[in-house]
Amino acid sequence: MRIPTEMVKPFSSALIPGMTGAALLALLLAMAFGCAPASDQGTTGSATGQDQGTAESSTAQDQGALGDGEPHQLKVIATVSPITSLAENIGGDRISLEGVVPEGTNSHTYEPTPSVALTLSDADLFIANGLFLEEPTIELAEANLPEGAVILTLADKAIAREEWVFDFSFPESEGHPNPHLWTAPLMAKKYAQLIHEQLVARDPQNQDYYDSNLEELEARLEELDRKIEEVVETIPAENRKLLTYHDSFPIFAQRYGFEIIGAIQPSDFSEPSAREVADLIEQVKESGVPAIFGSEVFPSPVLETIARESGAEYVDDLRDDDLPGGPQDPEHTYMGLMAANMTIMASALGGDAGPLEGFDTGLVFEGPSPAKYPQ
Ligand SMILES: [Zn+2]
Repeated sequence: MRIPTEMVKPFSSALIPGMTGAALLALLLAMAFGCAPASDQGTTGSATGQDQGTAESSTAQDQGALGDGEPHQLKVIATVSPITSLAENIGGDRISLEGVVPEGTNSHTYEPTPSVALTLSDADLFIANGLFLEEPTIELAEANLPEGAVILTLADKAIAREEWVFDFSFPESEGHPNPHLWTAPLMAKKYAQLIHEQLVARDPQNQDYYDSNLEELEARLEELDRKIEEVVETIPAENRKLLTYHDSFPIFAQRYGFEIIGAIQPSDFSEPSAREVADLIEQVKESGVPAIFGSEVFPSPVLETIARESGAEYVDDLRDDDLPGGPQDPEHTYMGLMAANMTIMASALGGDAGPLEGFDTGLVFEGPSPAKYPQ
């Protein structure tokens, strides 16, 4: 499908609340004299709509743009760290890559700072999950990306609308489906393919490099999928149940045969009511599940109460968009994130994470990696 040409809106200070006059001037200067966009063909292949079927890149004429003048590395901006990690694995040291959403923050309510507008102002490609996860950041990208830059949203292209999942934290009445597709590695593989397609379209000179990184990454994600299946096999069938605070695992659960017995966080990120807490305690007791799970990003006294009252163990360190370790650590990758989650679930639910031992969570290319992850 050809995405209709959509103009990137001119810079609007209204979208950057709190920006000072000096910062505004700096931004305007940067936009005027900064790195030229990869394309000056006058079109923007925006793929930002939630319903658009494919991420069509901009124009074919763009394709030599990186070659003119001095070498220009493709500048790629991504939102949450699992997506940054997938882009990092494919783009390796041939792209300039920067994450926007700091690790350990609530990505669902994150409001980008004015400095993000500046970062976006000379980017070639902006990658987001979509499905309403990062609306303020996508709006900022629409307002500040240079002409010719592309916005790629992944989740709305990885699954069809009929496959959207609604649940307690993401109720159908509000129309925003559960956006956490990436917690299933085969979905992450689809994300990786979509990212690869854009990197190749924007920077064909490095296609061989991107192709071989994608091939290696796909193999690694398939291996991760198989290893997770093997680990799940070791968990007693009656314990394959998840009660989580932050509702990140419905797609994971579908794939690996877990039953989601509940999620605790209401759609407005407040705490559940006393009635809901009482119901959850009953549910946990009835299910006989040995452990319930919190999230690093959302410490919750409510979950502690539910655990205490129901007799289940409270495990508080699942993560959905906060990579383990720090930048440059071998576990600080998408693969490291899901291997850690599976290991935590297995040991709490009576399984054995042995199949994941020795699994290589490191980057698929030879480092060091230039990717930037805000902390
Ligand atoms: Zn989340």
